[in-house]
Amino acid sequence: MEKLEELYSGKAKTVFRTDNPEKLVMEFRDSLTAFDGKKKSSAPKKGYYNAQISAKLFRLLEDNGIKTHFDSMLSGNEMVVDTVEIIKIEVIVRNIAAGSLTRKYPFRAGEKLDPPVLLFDYKSDEYGDPMINEDMALALRLATKEELSNIRELALRINSILLDYLDERGLLLPDFKLEFGRHKGRIVLADEISCDTCRFWDKKTGESLDKDVFRFDKGDLVAAYREVAKRIVPEINS
Ligand code: 5GP
Repeated sequence: MEKLEELYSGKAKTVFRTDNPEKLVMEFRDSLTAFDGKKKSSAPKKGYYNAQISAKLFRLLEDNGIKTHFDSMLSGNEMVVDTVEIIKIEVIVRNIAAGSLTRKYPFRAGEKLDPPVLLFDYKSDEYGDPMINEDMALALRLATKEELSNIRELALRINSILLDYLDERGLLLPDFKLEFGRHKGRIVLADEISCDTCRFWDKKTGESLDKDVFRFDKGDLVAAYREVAKRIVPEINS
């Protein structure tokens, strides 16, 4: 398979066409943004750590019967994925109150959410990713009722697989964001699962090991991402 020209470049990943129309290459870059792109930086090896964490978690989910867009790794920070039609909904799964939830609702930071809370955001830079409900998703023609119920069920299954796996590695998963796509008539998990899209807290100390280190200047971002990578992908070249 040959990597061809760039199709588009987002805040932290660039997508390339390949000589196979059914496959794309997703490059994880070292750049970082937060607060709708208002805060910008870059961190060495950040793209590599995120790509390796994502690949491992996609493989774990595939092994547990969840269809994903993951195909293989082309290099340390380049992932070959199936060409899918991205559904413009960010699915947020929350297990512990953190971030915007504690600003908008009367939850204490660190409070356990039981059952987990699933929220939908409309994936749109233009409108600032506003929160939507199922009726809005239907009215905006983002997905069908059947697809939404499928996405909900998949997100909760993914959550329980990840919670077990991460717990064994000394990590809490307060919340994370998923994106899904359509591929050959079915819904598959797309995008990434990494330190940019999840909150990971050390189980013993409660320390943030994710993008909050960058958002709130909590310390050494590369060290935090490396720590998560070492726990999830012990064989990694760190
Ligand atoms: P919050 O609503 O607290 O800002 O985010 C909740 C969770 O979803 C966090 O783990 C955060 O990383 C993830 N998340 C929500 N929206 C986005 C987004 O637009 N981009 C990324 N990378 N993560 C997001």
